[in-house]
Amino acid sequence: MKILKLGSQGTDVMEIQSLLKKIGYNPGPIDGSYGPRTKEAVIAFQKDNDLDADGIIGPQTYKILDILLRGYDTYYIQPGDTLWKIAKNYYTTVNKIVTANPSINPYQLQIGQRIIVPYGIDVVDTDIDYTYEIMERDIEGLKARYPFIEVGSAGESVLGRKLYYIKLGKGLNQVFYNGVHHSLEWITAPLLMKFIENFLKSYANGKNIRGYDLEKIWNQSSIYIIPMVNPDGVDLVLNGLSKDNPYYEELITWNNGSTDFSQVWQANNRGVDLNHNYPAKWQESKDAEIAMGIVGPSPTRYGGPFPLSEPETEAVTQFVRDHDFRLVLAYHTQGEVIFWKFDNLQPPEAKKIGELFSKVSGYRLGEVYGIASYAGMKDWFIQEYRRPGYTIEAGKGKNPLPLSQFSKIYNDNEELLLIASVV
Ligand SMILES: [Zn+2]
Repeated sequence: MKILKLGSQGTDVMEIQSLLKKIGYNPGPIDGSYGPRTKEAVIAFQKDNDLDADGIIGPQTYKILDILLRGYDTYYIQPGDTLWKIAKNYYTTVNKIVTANPSINPYQLQIGQRIIVPYGIDVVDTDIDYTYEIMERDIEGLKARYPFIEVGSAGESVLGRKLYYIKLGKGLNQVFYNGVHHSLEWITAPLLMKFIENFLKSYANGKNIRGYDLEKIWNQSSIYIIPMVNPDGVDLVLNGLSKDNPYYEELITWNNGSTDFSQVWQANNRGVDLNHNYPAKWQESKDAEIAMGIVGPSPTRYGGPFPLSEPETEAVTQFVRDHDFRLVLAYHTQGEVIFWKFDNLQPPEAKKIGELFSKVSGYRLGEVYGIASYAGMKDWFIQEYRRPGYTIEAGKGKNPLPLSQFSKIYNDNEELLLIASVV
């Protein structure tokens, strides 16, 4: 780990600020800048945890913060323990402990037995720049809390990052949601991750969300979610270009000589726009690109040397082929609009379902023209399966959308995400 102290900057500072705030300290604004207030909060945290109160996050302090970031601790049963007592010590609930440890008998705890104790805080934070590393840890944290979910990888990115998927439910009706084909649109990853967490939290407590019976959904449907299709691109946008990136020089060239990727980069690590790389009128897309003057790797809109030239799109199409998806939602930003057509190949019900999505989200139904209407994920799905596929452009404004939009985006889309699994 990197040592963090006064003057440090970045997404790792931001997530620790968010954590400190969540557990009752006051680090100042969650802005990724380690200022005096963050230092004070770290000192207070260190004092409470019998650590050297130097205001610097070194290995000892990080070790404890990391457990909190994962949202659970590993605990060995001591003589005289009860789940109630353990829950009290961890500011959590007995129900959370039982959910995370389906095989324990609360009335017959074995001394020395290893259990997972989830803290009483949520895992997925939505007030921070949501990097791949944060998502990866959140997925691990959710899997520890809710061991009954299936987690896997659909493939790898250019730089070998995993394209994680999470499966909710065990029913025959399979649906597929994905986010972040485009790097600047990374807010769609915490959208899907928060949906997963809220779904699991309510499901484990036998509660409904917005009147939807989650147990019924769980038994009837299987919701497969890949929250981040383009992790390398997100890393470029949020963490910047790393010195050890094997495409270091090329990326600067492709980015028109700039090392700042934070406001422009939509592509993957090879300068390919993944949502123009699917074999659905790919050649038309290519012709339109060339007409726009895009003839090679670029921050946006370059569809690659041939369809499915990229490991990310190859993985997504293979994932679709390995399942039997009744419909697909591909999350993007921005515009508050739902695209539902491709070359008139969509089934007759696609419009009706789209109207339902429009009704529950407040987003309008739209049709795309020109370059944006080819070679996308939902285009390929519609063409290949003649089943409903949607591109959902969440939020409104200039990409990357600010985190201040998160709550509205979440509220607008929560029911859509539920209804798409049963429609
Ligand atoms: Zn997009």
